[in-house]
Amino acid sequence: MIPFANTYARLPERFYARLNPTPVARPRLIKLNIALAEQLGLDPDDLTADVLAGNHVPEGAEPMALAYAGHQFGNFVPRLGDGRANLLGEVGGRDIQLKGAGRTPFSRGGDGRAALGPVLREYLIAEAMHAFGIPTTRALAAVATGETVVRETGLPGAIVTRVAASHIRVGTFQYFAARQDTDGVRTLADYAMARHYPGVTGYRAFLEAVIARQAALIARWLLVGFIHGVMNTDNCSIAGETIDYGPCAFMDAYDPATVFSSIDQQGRYAYGNQARIAAWNLARLAETLLPLLDDDDNKAVEIAQQCLAGFAKTFEAAYFGGLRRKIGLSSVRDGDDALTQDLLKAMAQNQADFTLTFRGLGEAETRDLFTDPTAYDAWEARWRQRLAFEVETPEARRAAMRAVNPAFIPRNHLVEAALNAAIERDDFAPFEELLAVVTQPFDDQSGFARYAAPPTASERVHQTFCGT
Ligand code: AMP
Ligand code: MG
Repeated sequence: MIPFANTYARLPERFYARLNPTPVARPRLIKLNIALAEQLGLDPDDLTADVLAGNHVPEGAEPMALAYAGHQFGNFVPRLGDGRANLLGEVGGRDIQLKGAGRTPFSRGGDGRAALGPVLREYLIAEAMHAFGIPTTRALAAVATGETVVRETGLPGAIVTRVAASHIRVGTFQYFAARQDTDGVRTLADYAMARHYPGVTGYRAFLEAVIARQAALIARWLLVGFIHGVMNTDNCSIAGETIDYGPCAFMDAYDPATVFSSIDQQGRYAYGNQARIAAWNLARLAETLLPLLDDDDNKAVEIAQQCLAGFAKTFEAAYFGGLRRKIGLSSVRDGDDALTQDLLKAMAQNQADFTLTFRGLGEAETRDLFTDPTAYDAWEARWRQRLAFEVETPEARRAAMRAVNPAFIPRNHLVEAALNAAIERDDFAPFEELLAVVTQPFDDQSGFARYAAPPTASERVHQTFCGT
């Protein structure tokens, strides 16, 4: 028995549409995350391909598609909602959702399905993010549907089981605000506070807390070179988790202008824009909360602005603090931020690999990652001078650095190769091996050196696709 709770189903009926997943032709289990299942207190035997494909609705589930709105690339869409996702219920306080489970009242023109490639990408990247210690939705399972989904071509269909703190997004608040449904906004805020911010009282403190979590989250992304790719307000979680892995990707060579998503032609969601965009999304959240912040409109706007001003402070503390740790500093001195920024600048000018540079700081071969190795030498000399003020032993510093600088990230060329093997040859071995490597990202794993290496010129992936 799956011990479902259904707190979202107790919210007003206008928050969702109740419906079952649409059964698929031939469910086949591709991958089950047994460690996560056990963490949730689930018996893996209950997680059959039929359940994970939506063919069998387990006892206690109250399946539904959630209503939400959202700004997509800056344009407001008042009605998005789960067009292909089905929330079965909650286990251990976390949502269990089937993504790719068929059409819903929110599907608009879509088929309600997901293709195998994006399902495996979500699985890999979510689990890698978790292994980095970054708040994220998890992947509990992937199943093949035995059906073909039509995108540009026919592709094998699949469903990912997503586990999330919840699926409440900035766009969920926008859905009710756009309908002048202040009661809906209040009910949602009360629910989100109780579920995600139990210590927080009052709507102002709630807004501040959401802002703080998002600011800390984006800092964590930047510190591992992650690019979400579709930071629309409907992909911005109120709980502060990374959610909705579409055309997301990790940067190889450091360049803040990096964009992979084929649909992000203006670079709105480029690596270096992510903090600014998160702040913009949170301003949209603040707007929806105005009626709750104060009866006086001007006063409410003032409060919202004060809350939003907190973003930069939290973000900068998390980002610069994280960078200091990445270069092995345990104390704070004037000039530290300039030191980290100058390293990034040298990396950008010399196409240095982001992950390997930090992992290899102080090692002889690291200079070779820079097109002009003397740019690294100059920086390293300054760094060594700074390290002289540290009280930690070199061994302790090395261990601390290795715990924050991963050796392995899910590099695009490896992700693509793993996905292609699965799609084209029904061969899941590369997926399994990549998953195993990137979920132990801080270990050296000497047998897997090729997974640490940046792509060669011909291996380089320039674009990723959301595949919807
Ligand atoms: P996403 O790009 O996954 O964040 O989705 C954005 C919106 O489009 C959400 O409302 C999704 O439910 C919807 N959507 C994406 N793909 C599909 C699909 N294949 N069928 C129906 N709706 C979809
Ligand atoms: Mg989405």
